[in-house]
Amino acid sequence: MTGSLNFLRCSICKGELIPQNDSLQCSHCNVFYEIIDGIPDMIPAILDEDIKGMVEIWENIEYDYDSYIEHTHNERLQAIDKPLLEQCADGKMVLEVGCGTARLKKEVEKEGGCYIGLEPSLNLLKQGINKRKFDLVRGVGEYLPFPDDYFDTIIGGYHSFRYIKLDKCFPECARVLKPGGVLAFTLWNYWLQSIQFIAFDIKGRRFPSFQFSKKVNDVSWVKKEINELENSGFKVVSILSTKKLPTKDISFLNRIFGWQGYWKGTWGTLIGNDIIFICEKNKSSNHTLENQK
Ligand SMILES: [Zn+2]
Repeated sequence: MTGSLNFLRCSICKGELIPQNDSLQCSHCNVFYEIIDGIPDMIPAILDEDIKGMVEIWENIEYDYDSYIEHTHNERLQAIDKPLLEQCADGKMVLEVGCGTARLKKEVEKEGGCYIGLEPSLNLLKQGINKRKFDLVRGVGEYLPFPDDYFDTIIGGYHSFRYIKLDKCFPECARVLKPGGVLAFTLWNYWLQSIQFIAFDIKGRRFPSFQFSKKVNDVSWVKKEINELENSGFKVVSILSTKKLPTKDISFLNRIFGWQGYWKGTWGTLIGNDIIFICEKNKSSNHTLENQK
């Protein structure tokens, strides 16, 4: 088992790990990481309060995550998955940050990619491991337990990057990506999201993400995310925003504003629904551990 975990590094100091009985020990700072039911638990023992809070929320979610995803309109899932999966072809080493129950593993492998999933919720990872066999790691996007220049592609499937501290996560993604590697993830439009929340409220339906409303990364003015990415060593290659309007199904409007097709560029982020970022790590990136602090 531990032989296949060579790709892991200490989440804190990025040192190499020595396999022990049911754990991994950092050869540099001596911290131990438990292996629970075959899943290495790489969450740092000491975490910022807000990251810890988010881990706890995901660990204790009270709804069935897979049914919630299945509840999502199939065309919407395809619209947000497709640009990410396009970056996973031809034997690429792919990391999914915030993989939930690893819904995308099968899809990434179908594209020809080699999949590793990282997720803070042991609860969700265990649900995933019951269904499929794969490389799953418990950890947080702000402290990636992988070596420098390791992955070709990092994806944030569904809307996982909504719940991560981006100012910490982007530099970590830049560190573990190879030069020229791709980061692709999806966020929500803040303005449409607000309208939808009100609509959901009126209908009296429970909406699982409501508890996150103040802590999530919804896009209000995309320059902020672009600056954050550029400061972390990325070039934003394209921004795609799904076209669906948060209205009832009106067929003539749906033909124009359906899930197929995207608004392209920064202006689209004001009217689009899901906002998909495709970024490339700068080829001459001079990331270091110091940059992350
Ligand atoms: Zn260490």
